[in-house]
Amino acid sequence: MSTGISAARYEERLGRARAAVGAGGHGALLIGVGPELEWLIGYAAVALERLTMLVIPASGRPTLVVPRLEVGAASAAPGTAAGLVELATWGETDDPFALVAGTLGARSAAGTVGSLLVSDGLRAAFLLRLQAALPTARFALASALVSPLRQVKDAEEVELLRAAAGAADRTVEAMIAGRLVGRTEADLAREVRDRLVGEGHDNAEFWIVAGGPNSASPHHEVSDRVVRAGEPLLFDIGGRRAGYCSDITRTVWVAGAVDQGPDDAFRRLHGLVEQAQAAGRAAIRPGVALQDLDRAARAIIDAAGHAEHFFHRLGHGIGLEVHEDPYLVEGNGAALVAGNAFSVEPGIYLEGRYGARIEDIAICTPTGGETLNGVERTLLTVRGE
Ligand code: ZN
Ligand code: ZN
Repeated sequence: MSTGISAARYEERLGRARAAVGAGGHGALLIGVGPELEWLIGYAAVALERLTMLVIPASGRPTLVVPRLEVGAASAAPGTAAGLVELATWGETDDPFALVAGTLGARSAAGTVGSLLVSDGLRAAFLLRLQAALPTARFALASALVSPLRQVKDAEEVELLRAAAGAADRTVEAMIAGRLVGRTEADLAREVRDRLVGEGHDNAEFWIVAGGPNSASPHHEVSDRVVRAGEPLLFDIGGRRAGYCSDITRTVWVAGAVDQGPDDAFRRLHGLVEQAQAAGRAAIRPGVALQDLDRAARAIIDAAGHAEHFFHRLGHGIGLEVHEDPYLVEGNGAALVAGNAFSVEPGIYLEGRYGARIEDIAICTPTGGETLNGVERTLLTVRGE
C-alpha cells in the first residue's frame, strides 16, 4: 500500500521531528510500528513480536532498526528508499534492544542518552526491554512532540483526505439509492465494505448500519435486524484509502413504496442535528478553541431541550488514524490551526425510539473551514425498494 506522499514531505517531517527533539532537550525519539512510523517515513509495517524501531536523535541521521526478514519491506518504504534513514538490521539471535542502545550510545560522548520519547502504542514488553537496556535513560511519550506536528496536514495529506471523503460520499449515495427494505443491517454492511473497496479504499474499517430504534445507539453493532419501511436508517462508514481515512455519517428516512413518513418529530429532530452540524462547521477558523466548536453545535441541541440526548463529543481529528488528535470536546482549550482535519458529528439519540447523526470531515484553512464531504445533509426520504 502506498501513502501517496512524496519523499520531500518525509524529509521535511523527519527534519521537524529531529528539531523538536533538540529543542526539547531530549535524547531521541524511539518510534515503533504504528501511525507515527507511517507518518515519519511512510512505512506501514505489520506489528510483530520482533522489534522494528525508528531512532531519531537530536543530531545525526535517523536509524531504522529492523529484523532481517523485514528488510525488503522496510527498504521499499518511501522514506527508506529515498535514503532518509540508515538501516540497522538484526538477525534471529541478535538482541535488537542492545542494538537500539548501541545506536544511541554511539552518539553520546558522555555515555548518557537523556530522555527518550517512545511512541504511544509501543508494546509494553518492548518498553520494559528498552528500560533494561538503557537503565540511565528517562522515558516519556512521543505524542507530546509528534502529535502537534501530525495535527497540521500538508497539502498532499489534504488531497488524500479529500479523495477518501469523495469515495465515502459515493458509497453512501449508492447505498441510499439502492434497495434497503427487507434487507438485514449485516447484508447492507457487507455491501458498504465492498463499495468502499470498489471506490479505491485499501480496506473498510467500520460500517455502522442502524435501522429504526438501533439508530439511537451511536456505535451500534450491525445485526440481523431487517430494515423496514417507515423508519430512519443511519450509515456511519469509512476506511483507509492510500493510507488516509474516511468517515461519514448520514441518516435517511426509508419511506417504502407507499410513502410512510417521516413523522414530524423525526423531521424536527433531524433538522436540529443539521442546524447544530452547520453551526459547528461555521465556527471553524484558526485561533478558535476546539471546545468552542463543540459548544457552538451543542448550544442548538441544548436550547431545544435535547442536552441529555447528545452525549458524545462533537468530533475527532482524522488522518492516518480514524481517531487522532485534535479532539473537539469540552475542556480542550487548544486553538485550531490551519491544516487541522477533523470530524463534525453531532447527534440526538432517543433510546428505544430512534436517533440521527450527521458527520462530515472538515479542514481548518487559513481563513475558515472547508468541508470535504458533499452528500446532501437535509433529511433525505428514500423509497428503499
Ligand atoms: Zn463516523
Ligand atoms: Zn467520526
